[in-house]
Amino acid sequence: MKTCMTHAPIARLASLALLASLAAACGGEPDQPSLPGGGGGKADELGGELGERWDRDLLFTGLRVDLAQKSATAEIRLAPSSAPGASFDVKGLEVLAVRGEAGELPYRIVAGRLDVAAPRRGGEAEGAVALSIDYRFREREELEGQTTSGVTFTWPYFCGNLFPCKSDPADGLRFALELEGVPAKQQAVFPRTIPADAPSYMAAWAVGEYSYKKLGVTKAGTEVGVYWLPGEEADSLRGTAALAAHFDWLEQTVGPYLFGDKVASVSARWKNAYGGMEHHPFWHVDAGSMDDAYIHAHEAAHGWYGDGIRLRCWEDFVLSEGPTSYLAARAISAAGGAAAEKQIWNRFRARLQSAVASTDVVAWPDSCGKLDILKDNIYTSIPYMKGAFFLRAVELAIGRTAIDRALSRFYIANAGKAAGMADLIATLSAEAVAVGQSAATIESLAQTWLRSKGMPELPAMP
Ligand SMILES: [Zn+2]
Repeated sequence: MKTCMTHAPIARLASLALLASLAAACGGEPDQPSLPGGGGGKADELGGELGERWDRDLLFTGLRVDLAQKSATAEIRLAPSSAPGASFDVKGLEVLAVRGEAGELPYRIVAGRLDVAAPRRGGEAEGAVALSIDYRFREREELEGQTTSGVTFTWPYFCGNLFPCKSDPADGLRFALELEGVPAKQQAVFPRTIPADAPSYMAAWAVGEYSYKKLGVTKAGTEVGVYWLPGEEADSLRGTAALAAHFDWLEQTVGPYLFGDKVASVSARWKNAYGGMEHHPFWHVDAGSMDDAYIHAHEAAHGWYGDGIRLRCWEDFVLSEGPTSYLAARAISAAGGAAAEKQIWNRFRARLQSAVASTDVVAWPDSCGKLDILKDNIYTSIPYMKGAFFLRAVELAIGRTAIDRALSRFYIANAGKAAGMADLIATLSAEAVAVGQSAATIESLAQTWLRSKGMPELPAMP
């Protein structure tokens, strides 16, 4: 993919349209492969009925954003479907116009939801339906959309403050981004395209006085770099000294990276938050965490788990954070040796003990699509740390070679798709059987670490 830096306002409408049609041409499977009654007639081309419809498959969103005017156009591609209509979250947006291939389309807004009379099929490749939505957005102090510090943040379900979207983590789509109105002397760091299906919260940009350093190129040919803001160079270079080696380890161990051939950690000046956010391929790390190698490695690992494989529902959050924490620890151990390995697992133990002491919840609730990740306490340190220790315990039970093979096999089978923690446990169980252990061993570890509260007996530490 092309580089992500823009030094001046730009407008590339033609290239955006081209990317959109390319993405549509190679987009996902239609949600209904055939239309009853021969569908796709003339009436469709004028639009369908207005109603709430969240199950329409989104294939692509191209955003052309004017940062100075706080206005944007979203070019959206929908999969063809047996029924018309599509709904989008626009809670924080002012919608100005909705157009289809034949001109303006009827729409309505109900309680932050945009219902569009989208036709069942369009004239694009594979019958994809093209929509264009003009809208305005606003800057926010909180991490819920375009922030006043120049970065965007939409996790877990605030994409509707930045662009018309579906915040369901299972729904994957491709993106193209163009930013205009970047302030003088500032640079915008963002991917021009996201070439594989990603969750809506992955797309992001960061605008500021960024400096860049190329840290290295992996064996698979991925350029790994770091962007920092004034005053942060020393911390940023210390924190990312081994990032290229960590990324290389992930590619070699887990599988090919989906989101382009240039990746970087990007400093973000968040208010009242720390750590990082998996905005691949240019993930954000809080300025105060830029010297922390673990945070960089953790966000990098989301390229495989959490972004590369999406969550079926928020209750499966442990599938994003457990493997990510574990793989980051493994990458750090592989590059840093025994002392680094001991240090990272001691850090995890302290974080686990503190998490259990403060919010003793299960890592993996047994519903799907029922709980709110923020309001129902899924987002705590528990899924991160119990997820990591679960995998550490599995590693000790079946061996490092076997768990690596399972994590890689699972990634390759599910890359670009949504999956659940139960699916990963099934893959780990199959691997256990293949090396002469029992599936019950894995089930029992899952019960202890993921389905129970309290502080289990720790697996042997390095
Ligand atoms: Zn994470």
